[in-house]
Amino acid sequence: MYSAAVVGAGPAGSTAARFLSEKGHEVILIDRKEVVGVPKQCAEGLFAGCLPEFTTASGDFLTGKIRYLQVVFPNQASYRVRCDLLMLDRPKFDQHLLMLAEGSGAQVALGQKVERVRPESGEVFLSGGEVIRAEAIVGADGPASRVAKSMGERNRVVPAAQVEMTWPEDDAIYAYIDHDLHNSYSCWIFPKNERGTANVGCFGTFPTLERFISKYKIKGEVVEKNGGSIPLGVAARLQKGRAVLIGDAGGLTNPFTGGGLYPAARSARIAADAIDRFLRSETKGIEYEARMRRDFVASGLHLKARDALAALSNEELCRLGTAMDGLVFPGLRLSASPLLVYRGLRHPGIARPKYAPLLKLLFRYCLAGKVW
Ligand SMILES: Cc1cc2nc3c(=O)[nH]c(=O)nc-3n(C[C@H](O)[C@H](O)[C@H](O)COP(=O)(O)OP(=O)(O)OC[C@H]3O[C@@H](n4cnc5c(N)ncnc54)[C@H](O)[C@@H]3O)c2cc1C
Repeated sequence: MYSAAVVGAGPAGSTAARFLSEKGHEVILIDRKEVVGVPKQCAEGLFAGCLPEFTTASGDFLTGKIRYLQVVFPNQASYRVRCDLLMLDRPKFDQHLLMLAEGSGAQVALGQKVERVRPESGEVFLSGGEVIRAEAIVGADGPASRVAKSMGERNRVVPAAQVEMTWPEDDAIYAYIDHDLHNSYSCWIFPKNERGTANVGCFGTFPTLERFISKYKIKGEVVEKNGGSIPLGVAARLQKGRAVLIGDAGGLTNPFTGGGLYPAARSARIAADAIDRFLRSETKGIEYEARMRRDFVASGLHLKARDALAALSNEELCRLGTAMDGLVFPGLRLSASPLLVYRGLRHPGIARPKYAPLLKLLFRYCLAGKVW
């Protein structure tokens, strides 16, 4: 009998397994893959302020830094925000986190697919027929989580298509907002200067990505094709019996930006803490769900802001772009942001109430001092 069985050795699972092992618990970390982190399903960007949540020193998974976020509108008008964005080598990052988990004492079982779990009893059923028993189960098995399914949950997801293509040295990541391409908005370019490439992707499928590349005349040679799916909103239930959901398995990825690394680490920390207290008999059950939902990463505001942005027509986006074209904001600070808000909203023809969720979200990011 293990103290905890962690299903999925992505960033969420490896981090939760490490935190639990460090607290002295007997942990098994199970992944269906033989080698974690591949194929890459990520644009590989992480705002520097989010890395400490993983509690790790930097390593060879950090490949470069980017100084600006540039938001581009359908009329090619754009503004820039100064930021510190780290570019990761995602396979190396996942492998690094797994190594930390193993180093802290977690038993690692790779190449083992979990079919289902029994949340009430703590049983984990592997595809080979083996059954593992644990006091607590952590579902960290990504957007199509088997643990979530065993709890009666199914994540709502949006597909994301991406290619890695050759790209010149650059100082910005780009977020394109264009509703002609996809009704739920954006495409991105994340340069990897050290490799002379960029991750070019979109919310949507490969035909959408091809339309983006053609419309914006993105030039480069494709060296890799990847993609995946991004959860759209937190699962209705994050806990049942002895099982909890973290990271993408719990739908905790930010649906506004698609960023899921920070929520993976944040939910891993909260879950490990709640399970530790339960295992030490300090609480009767695992007190995870309520605490997780109080955290800003689980806020419904991200989805509301996404919906608000999706509701704007391309015409409105162009007007907004014209109002903000050429601005460079010195950072994500309250002192910088009022100008961004003011310049955007005073432009005639843009109905203000529509912007409320976007402004609230911006305000919250400024308070948090980070975006993910
Ligand atoms: C195209 C794309 C671009 C993205 N770009 C970014 C970005 O730039 N920055 C950012 O912060 N986020 C980004 N994200 C989101 C980010 O990749 C995810 O949020 C993150 O990987 C979530 O980590 P996780 O550990 O919860 O899940 P995952 O990374 O999905 O890990 C789940 C693990 O569970 C294992 N598993 C699954 N099912 C089973 C099973 N039945 N049995 C055993 N093991 C199983 C898998 O093999 C995998 O190792 C992007 C996502 C996509 C699709």
